Amino acid sequence: MVGYNLRPRQRNGLVSKQEDPPVLESNNTPAKPSKESKPTMGELNRKVQTIIAKSSWWDRYGVDWCIILLSVCALLPIAVLLLRSDDWGPFLIGLALLGLIHSMIKTKISHLAAHGALCKSKGWNTIWQYLFIEFFGSFSAVSSMDIHLKVHHPYTNIVGLGDSAIWRVPFLPCFTYMFVAPLLLPPLTPVVAMGNLIVDKKFVAAVKCLIVVTCGLVANVWFIMWAGAMTCTKAIICILVYRAPMEIPYIHVNIFQHIGLPMYSRENHPPRLQLMCNGALNLTRAPIINWFFGHSLVDCHVEHHLFPTLSDNMCAKVKPVVKEYILGHGLAYQEEDYWDRLKLFVKKYKELMVNAPPITEFIGIQ
Ligand SMILES: [Zn+2]
Repeated sequence: MVGYNLRPRQRNGLVSKQEDPPVLESNNTPAKPSKESKPTMGELNRKVQTIIAKSSWWDRYGVDWCIILLSVCALLPIAVLLLRSDDWGPFLIGLALLGLIHSMIKTKISHLAAHGALCKSKGWNTIWQYLFIEFFGSFSAVSSMDIHLKVHHPYTNIVGLGDSAIWRVPFLPCFTYMFVAPLLLPPLTPVVAMGNLIVDKKFVAAVKCLIVVTCGLVANVWFIMWAGAMTCTKAIICILVYRAPMEIPYIHVNIFQHIGLPMYSRENHPPRLQLMCNGALNLTRAPIINWFFGHSLVDCHVEHHLFPTLSDNMCAKVKPVVKEYILGHGLAYQEEDYWDRLKLFVKKYKELMVNAPPITEFIGIQ
């Protein structure tokens, strides 16, 4: 288990100091640093590119498509059968299965599509983005690119840019934020998407998004009406109910992996490799969230931030090399269990989710 303490950060190759109050820092002791060379993104990239070059289509894309198709093909027919049951038990299990399928589409597949990690073709990736993010996920593909790809990834944990501030709702108390508010995300998701596009004055994208999201929701309602032999109103209630539970771990994963780690200013931050090592954290593997959210959002989040166009399977494949390189050069490689992180956020909710994050001052690389 990785513990947390409050002390200034000082690691081989990276020296920084923190303003008061200090940020939480991983206690994970780095391995003895390599004497051969200073760590660089270029050198690590060459190692990873060698692995990618030797990997087949199956490794790069096939495994993830197989997981996606197997999950949908195995779970959907069972869910449809159970949805027609007159008993509450089987009916609720059917809803839970539909929730897992939707969560996989909205989280794992949409995230891979946003990064162009579902296939090599740019054209097909664009089709997947609109299909999975907008039609099935009820969010805007354009907003996803603007928020996740253009801000969060390049400016991870840089205050005012990619510092995960969008996940904070300081006026909500801890229990409400952590366990109740996420349940409201299904109806709020399309509203937030449209709001983002209108605020950014992207009116054409807003109209396109409105059309695609509406078609997706109508198709979803029609499917549930057919599958469960139910009325339109009941189908809408079922959709809101089955989409809600997996939003709880979705919010948790998003805040656990960056908030509480060192934050930097735009003018004074470490180079990309050190920034990602300090500002991203891997959660240890957990069967359900790993399967339905994907490695890049759970146990390979550091690798995903360093190599964002890799599929989930490729992130897992390069992980040993990336971890060895990072630890071998005395940099931080942060890993923590989901439940330990949950306990920490509940215990220090005000410090982590309400107060403004403290800024770590980057001094330089020695
Ligand atoms: Zn990403």
